[in-house]
Amino acid sequence: MDQIKMVDLNRQYKRLQKDIDASMAEVLEQTAFINGPAVKSFQSNLENYLGVKHVIPCANGTDALQIALMALGLQPGDEVITSTFTFIATVEVIALLKLKPVLVDVDPSTFTLLPNEVEEAVTDKTKAIIPVHLFGQGADMSAIMKIANKHNLAVVEDTAQAIGSDYSLNDTKLKLGTIGNIGCTSFFPSKNLGCFGDGGACFTNNDELAAMMRMIVNHGSRKKYYHQVIGVNSRLDTLQAAVLDVKLKHLDDFNNRRRVAADYYDQKLGDLEGLDIPVRDAASRHTFHQYTLKVKDGKRDALQAFLKEKGIPSMVYYPVSLHQQEAFEAYCENNQSLPISEDLSREVLSLPMHTELDEGQLKYITQSIIDFFKP
Ligand SMILES: *Cc1c(COP(=O)(O)O)cnc(C)c1O
Repeated sequence: MDQIKMVDLNRQYKRLQKDIDASMAEVLEQTAFINGPAVKSFQSNLENYLGVKHVIPCANGTDALQIALMALGLQPGDEVITSTFTFIATVEVIALLKLKPVLVDVDPSTFTLLPNEVEEAVTDKTKAIIPVHLFGQGADMSAIMKIANKHNLAVVEDTAQAIGSDYSLNDTKLKLGTIGNIGCTSFFPSKNLGCFGDGGACFTNNDELAAMMRMIVNHGSRKKYYHQVIGVNSRLDTLQAAVLDVKLKHLDDFNNRRRVAADYYDQKLGDLEGLDIPVRDAASRHTFHQYTLKVKDGKRDALQAFLKEKGIPSMVYYPVSLHQQEAFEAYCENNQSLPISEDLSREVLSLPMHTELDEGQLKYITQSIIDFFKP
């Protein structure tokens, strides 16, 4: 049996190596490393894949979130409601722009924003909501869009973990990231669509927001050396675009392979007492960026140690909710308690999940977990 990894990028590369190497060699030949033809090509292929009017490539997923918030023209002190149970980038950019992060709790079964808590957090300073489609599954976008429409708020979807996921909104099938005003994603190597370094993108169907974001990523400029707004330097590398353009053709296959592994885990672990397998929301087709268990009775750390002994890696996403992070002490309400996320931090355990898991590995992983609970 091959060594089990959380994410096996090497085996995936080997499988696609011929096409990826050829695509990268073309960039080296052209030496158009900044904004070369592959960037445009990938942009337009991703627009088609997502069914969205505009994709604005940028340097990474954190930048994508920052650029989205800049494009909305938010002012210091404006409040942005988001999840406390996410990767730090989501909240970091809010604070960096001197906006106020308002962190709310998550649904204990889907790990995504609780719409009623979002509604309760709305004040007359609230300007935007950032739902995070955590672990590959959509936040409750029907409810969130209703709240946003009612209070005239912008919605920026953090789609870094859910690219390619289908979501049913009023019987229409849409890709996550194309429902709110702006969607943001990351092409970090371990994401469902990952490049060989950093990369990211914003999506929108709104022409004005797209034009603004294209300016912002390019130093606030439309015409060289003429600057309309304060921007940033955030570009997707041509070499990364060349890799992504090849991998995009495989994204549905990648997501299917993840689902096959998740189905196997579900089947073997579903009846086990002492843990909960991930809940699948009917509106959202899970793409399993992570396969995350909830381990009951305080046994999470013991299970993780047991698996490690057997050569099986696992990860805790996330051990500390963002409202409890030292960095945000000055930004969040003092003594704020968000008990669901705090419980989740003690219970969650993500199992190896990638496109190359084989049946032997899955069998070994699941049998080891069964052995832990039924020695
Ligand atoms: C990965 C990730 C990001 C940031 O992406 P980078 O490309 O690493 O900057 C933002 N939000 C979430 C939820 C993520 O998982």
